[in-house]
Amino acid sequence: MSLSGSCLRFFKEQLPPQQFNSWIKPLVFEINGDKLILTAPNSFTLRIIQDRFLPEISKRAQPYFSSPPQIELRIEKRAAKATTTPPPNPVPTKTVAPAAKNGKNPNKLNPALIFDTFVTGKANQLAHAAAIQVAEAPGVTYNPLFIYGGVGLGKTHLLQSIGNLVNKQNPQAKVCYVHATNYISGVVRAFQTKNFDEFKQFYNSLDLLLIDDIQFIADKPGTQQEFFYTLNSLIDTNKQVVITCDTFPKEISGIEPRLTSRFTCGLTVAIEPPGLEMRVAILLQKSSASGSPITEDIAFFIAKHVRSNVRELEGALNRIEAYARFHKRPITIELAKEALKDLLAAQNKQVSIENIQKTVADFYRIKIVDLLSKKRSRIIARPRQIAMTLARELTQLSLPEIGNAFGGRDHSTVLHACKTIESLRNSDSALGADFSLLNQTLRG
Ligand code: ADP
Ligand code: MG
Repeated sequence: MSLSGSCLRFFKEQLPPQQFNSWIKPLVFEINGDKLILTAPNSFTLRIIQDRFLPEISKRAQPYFSSPPQIELRIEKRAAKATTTPPPNPVPTKTVAPAAKNGKNPNKLNPALIFDTFVTGKANQLAHAAAIQVAEAPGVTYNPLFIYGGVGLGKTHLLQSIGNLVNKQNPQAKVCYVHATNYISGVVRAFQTKNFDEFKQFYNSLDLLLIDDIQFIADKPGTQQEFFYTLNSLIDTNKQVVITCDTFPKEISGIEPRLTSRFTCGLTVAIEPPGLEMRVAILLQKSSASGSPITEDIAFFIAKHVRSNVRELEGALNRIEAYARFHKRPITIELAKEALKDLLAAQNKQVSIENIQKTVADFYRIKIVDLLSKKRSRIIARPRQIAMTLARELTQLSLPEIGNAFGGRDHSTVLHACKTIESLRNSDSALGADFSLLNQTLRG
């Protein structure tokens, strides 16, 4: 068997199809003397290969070389060029939007939402990298790009950034940002006025369709059918579609399976709640952008207490700034405490370890007593590890205290649980999605 055949077969068995199709299948293997040359379709795939799959590929390659091969990673030339190729049928309009007739247009791109103001970190770097990739070469790489994550985590910001960048690089491109609720109104209006052709034509003529919060089309079969056709037509003609959603595609109920499976045929990436350091970075960036930069310890103080999402971080910061202005006092930790008094009180009450245990037990439909028991079967042990990890992230409790609250376990058991879940979150997308959902739910 050839080296590429051996690698393909191996990874096909090891990886979920989505990952296999996105990362491994497009690779071109080439043996050149004592060198193995791997060509990836774009820099994003290349990075993923480098970070995650290189050791295994290298291991598989050994038998094909007399000494350990040198591996060279390349990017396919076509992908590099694609950014400068104008899209077919350029249309001499800038951003376009459906139903702009009534003056106000809710679908316009917001010029403030750009990549430059988007802070990246572990929680969103995949989504960010994919978004940039798509904006630089629309229709060439992942189609559709599907970004999902909880509320206030930056989905709309990323979506708009893609539109703004595409517009900047190619003012001819026909770009449309539409919130799913406006898309639904569009379908309804087209029904009422029997203007379906116009409606279809509009969407089919786009170079880039950005559709936000797709979960809203659940339980609307007419809209779903319409969207299914649009999606297919755009993808088939290599026009880029980017979709955001509040959950993992397969988990949205009330959407036809043919549609959800179409959602995942490109690339699906999650945005997670930001970790502490990233929340600090966001606060520092936002406060200096607003002209009243805060110090790092104040940022840490806020970030420690406002954990749910970026929108709330912004809210907290605004509140502190307003409070300082009103009382004509400088921003200090003392002042931040006063300004956020209500919020802090409400939060301290919310995330208790009992709350975490109950939420996790309900979610996995197991009993709390089992969660705290010595039972080791996977269906109990995994949720227990998840609950421990959530307790570590969401409460101020120490490892021994958490161990204690889980039926008197040792602190090393808790640590092991956290490590296990941490690594599973990266390799097991279903578990990762469960974890994010629980995390969001608990944070309120
Ligand atoms: P979502 O659409 O996921 O609910 P938004 O994109 O509306 O969230 O983000 C909420 C707010 O937080 C917006 O003001 C957005 O600009 C800001 N925001 C979110 N993520 C980031 C980030 N990584 N860096 C900077 N600002 C962010
Ligand atoms: Mg949004």
